[in-house]
Amino acid sequence: MNSFAGSLDRAAPLVADKAPMIDPFGRAVTYLRVSVTDRCDFRCTYCMAEHMSFLPKKDLLTLEELNRLCSAFIAKGVRKLRLTGGEPLVRKNIMFLVRELGRHVQSGALDELTLTTNGSQLARYADELYDCGVRRINVSLDTLDPQKFKEITRWGDFHKVMEGIDAAQKAGLKIKLNAVALKDFNEHEIPEMLRFAHGRGMDMTVIETMPMGEIEEDRTDWYLPLSKLRADLEERFTLVDIPYKTGGPARYVEVKETGGRLGFITPMTHNFCESCNRVRLTCTGTLYMCLGQNDAADLCTPLRASESDDYLMAAIDEAISRKPKGHDFIIDRKHKKPAVARHMSVTGG
Ligand code: SAM
Ligand code: SF4
Repeated sequence: MNSFAGSLDRAAPLVADKAPMIDPFGRAVTYLRVSVTDRCDFRCTYCMAEHMSFLPKKDLLTLEELNRLCSAFIAKGVRKLRLTGGEPLVRKNIMFLVRELGRHVQSGALDELTLTTNGSQLARYADELYDCGVRRINVSLDTLDPQKFKEITRWGDFHKVMEGIDAAQKAGLKIKLNAVALKDFNEHEIPEMLRFAHGRGMDMTVIETMPMGEIEEDRTDWYLPLSKLRADLEERFTLVDIPYKTGGPARYVEVKETGGRLGFITPMTHNFCESCNRVRLTCTGTLYMCLGQNDAADLCTPLRASESDDYLMAAIDEAISRKPKGHDFIIDRKHKKPAVARHMSVTGG
């Protein structure tokens, strides 16, 4: 990781810069994803090993520090902010951060504050999320079968997630369901999930499994190219490409039979990097400029170095100047090691 401490020692002349973040390939960075914790109350088999070692709590930025970091990014042109994890809603006192960030929605500085959640805590937090200015959320759900749900999440309770979805819809939150497409696990269930999601007014997105972090299983066994899933779905449904965009990497179709939208996130079969507008911040203040690369920048040191944001703004500019063109994920039998060693729960996907 590039340490900012060196530049602090040299006392380089740093100027607070609120200019928009434009990377070396001319892409404006307007979307920040923040992993507020690496911990989770589930252990999805494709995401985590069953016995994970998590960061010591003392290494985490406080919620006040995360708020300051996020606010710096908003000052530099971020318009969409997503809280993720691990499971964002298991971080103690998380609603403090949500409420603070919600002020930027109120002021018009942010277009959207959203989160990606496994849904386990939604019944408790849905109303408060809405009250803080959250309007749309992503809920990850890979199956509608309670038994299979237990199998894939190891520790999850399907009925609790369903209660969470009910509560969120009742609170007025728009939901998008995210399913990782897994060969021999849910590939034949996707049509049923699609009908369920669209029947309840929810969009749905399918995601290819990515080679991130060591897990017990071999991801090659699960990898299902979405080109194949799409071809299978087209035998039953009429899928019409639409230009709908949510600021993320999904490409959408309208499903004529259900009238709903289905998104495909295809990091493996169709690289979507050319239009990348995102960077990812971890709960320790490390900024990853690309989900699929190891290069990162330490923002914790400049954050803590001074009460003014000058060092921090300069460190952000320096990091953005290193944003790579894209990733190059490969899953096959020859590549036994994950492309990046960190788990998805570190950067939140
Ligand atoms: N815990 C929350 C959840 O599950 O929604 C937020 C964090 S989770 C890491 C974010 C998303 O990443 C989830 O939709 C999950 O299914 C997906 N994910 C995790 N590991 C993945 C992998 N190796 N490949 C593709 N998607 C993955
Ligand atoms: Fe937890 Fe989300 Fe990873 Fe599942 S996908 S283990 S819910 S972080």
